Amino acid sequence: MSDDKTPAKFRTFLILGAPGSGKGTQGKVLGSIPRFHHLACGDVFRSLDTRTALGQKFVEFSSRGELVPDDVTVQLWHANVKQRVDAHQFKPEIDFLVLDGIPRNVEQAKYMETHIEVLKLFHLSCPDRTELARRLRKRALKDNRFDDANESVIQNRFATYEAETKPILDYYAGERVVDIDASQSPAKVLYDIIGSVMTLEAWREQEKLRI
Ligand code: AMP
Repeated sequence: MSDDKTPAKFRTFLILGAPGSGKGTQGKVLGSIPRFHHLACGDVFRSLDTRTALGQKFVEFSSRGELVPDDVTVQLWHANVKQRVDAHQFKPEIDFLVLDGIPRNVEQAKYMETHIEVLKLFHLSCPDRTELARRLRKRALKDNRFDDANESVIQNRFATYEAETKPILDYYAGERVVDIDASQSPAKVLYDIIGSVMTLEAWREQEKLRI
């Protein structure tokens, strides 16, 4: 998995925000740019065979709007990222990792410290929960997301975000945290994210490589 040029930790951008804030949309677009590799934890869970024990666990927790327990989550994440490195899909020596949906609480963030170097955390902020719920209902129909279809599950997902995920902002507090207005159009949100990435020394170094 590693050679001389492989960094000790993956150079990482985190995308954090309440359900419906656009993490997946931004992650996908960023991941389509050369040298950015997107990994969405929810997608990894959704790709599991629901007949397996882990697949069952995912259905059990996500259908209630709750988080899957940390130990299985971080193990699954680590195995998945390692697979991508081994398959040369994600090349840590030249690519930035864009994570959406993980870490989802401070415990996960602590565990991941040994694996990732967080360059920036983009907080997609949208205090208007009515707007977020509207987006989730729309997505439920379009993407067949069972956890977005039910009103009480949606409210539970918001409550889980407030209680468990938002404290991550304090954990990483400081210059690395960038608040972005998620009620803007997806293009403007992307513009804000890219603008912030381009201020980084790590980005300028990357530019010089001309790969
Ligand atoms: P998402 O697609 O990110 O909205 O995730 C959908 C569901 O997958 C969540 O509501 C959780 O049940 C589960 N999930 C995704 N990522 C995580 C994580 N990092 N930790 C625990 N559960 C997660």
